[in-house]
Amino acid sequence: NPLQGAQFVLAAHRIHQLPADEGAEVAFAGRSNAGKSSALNALTGQKALARTSKTPGRTQQMVAFSLPVTVHDEMSQAAPVRLIDLPGYGYAKVPEALREHWRHEIDAYLHQRRSLRGVVLIADIRHPMKEFDRMMLEFCFGTLLPCHVLLTKADKLSRNQAQQALAAVRKQLDASTPVTAQIFSSSEGTGVEEARDAVMRMLHG
Ligand code: GDP
Repeated sequence: NPLQGAQFVLAAHRIHQLPADEGAEVAFAGRSNAGKSSALNALTGQKALARTSKTPGRTQQMVAFSLPVTVHDEMSQAAPVRLIDLPGYGYAKVPEALREHWRHEIDAYLHQRRSLRGVVLIADIRHPMKEFDRMMLEFCFGTLLPCHVLLTKADKLSRNQAQQALAAVRKQLDASTPVTAQIFSSSEGTGVEEARDAVMRMLHG
């Protein structure tokens, strides 16, 4: 599992502070408290890689993690591979000016980042496809950037309810776009392998 070797590189408030835009990276996005930090920890097999908290919205930064693998760039040179944890979105107690800052930075990141290979969208399986999620999906539709949706906290539902929620989300996804979705639970480890495969496919795709 190459994700296991993920290492913190830096935290950034603006996209120009991120590592050089070379190689390949996958971004993790989600509403505050959706379970993004827990999902990153589960995928990397590191309990404290991304901070998890019960006070969502506290850490408002883009965080870059490097992976111990490389991809080949256009010149057939080995180039670095990263995961980018985007700031949790939509926490009510964040001042409007700061929310506007992040709306702008995330938008700029998605549009300008050349090494971006795909987005993992984390959504609470009990409240999927809120406005932010639809915005991210629409962006991916528009750019044909692959997107993989993790419907997390599946342990909060019965297996049957979780399957129904997944079917409902899949029904909303346009079959012509490269968006996939799966059931996930950080606390039970459900869907971790499937999600790792999706991330690796995006990085090498
Ligand atoms: P973030 O704000 O999106 O990074 O969310 P966190 O990962 O910090 O999780 C928010 C809250 O949801 C925390 O209290 C976590 O313990 C809880 N949580 C996250 N993932 C799961 C999960 O798969 N199952 C359950 N039951 N709780 C989870």
